[in-house]
Amino acid sequence: MDSSDVSGDLTNVLITEAEIHAKIAELARRIEADYAGQDVLLVGVLKGAVMVMADLARELRLPITMDWMAVSSYGTSTQSSGVVRILKDLDSELEGRTVLIVEDIIDSGLTLSWLLGNLRSRGPASVEVCALLRKPDAVRIELDVKYVGFDIPNDFVIGYGLDYAEKYRNLKDIAVLAPHVYS
Ligand code: 5GP
Ligand code: MG
Ligand code: MG
Repeated sequence: MDSSDVSGDLTNVLITEAEIHAKIAELARRIEADYAGQDVLLVGVLKGAVMVMADLARELRLPITMDWMAVSSYGTSTQSSGVVRILKDLDSELEGRTVLIVEDIIDSGLTLSWLLGNLRSRGPASVEVCALLRKPDAVRIELDVKYVGFDIPNDFVIGYGLDYAEKYRNLKDIAVLAPHVYS
């Protein structure tokens, strides 16, 4: 873990910084092969995907552009409901574009399922998804996620962009939040 003094809030490190970077490089090689010769629009979902986007975008040897969307999914602090509201929309038009959504984590998949429908309705040439993390519930629903970094257990994780109450996003590793913090 890094120097931030929050180690008492974590039960364990799940994925180290080195493991994250190795996985992002691996995903980037697959994406480069699949999108060779194309201009890809990376759509990052704020705020959790900021770190994945920053590292993936720099790793990709492809002409890319970046855009951002902020959505709020109604629900409790640790569970989403699937009812989504756009807080910040894309600046770009998607008509004819090759779109790759960059996500931090898929849990129920409700947020992503809504987002896919929303972006696909704007006439892009294609929309695929790259998510660093995926939890077990997401595997059960019909969701086409082309690039997944890690399948993780059903724990609430923080770090590398992921927050709890807006904290811990700056941790370099991904760690499991200790239940005493949120219960
Ligand atoms: P879904 O709609 O797939 O259930 O939830 C997706 C969103 O819920 C993620 O983008 C993230 O904001 C939040 N989320 C789900 N699981 C976790 C988790 O383990 N840790 C954190 N920090 N956020 C999570
Ligand atoms: Mg997200
Ligand atoms: Mg959050």
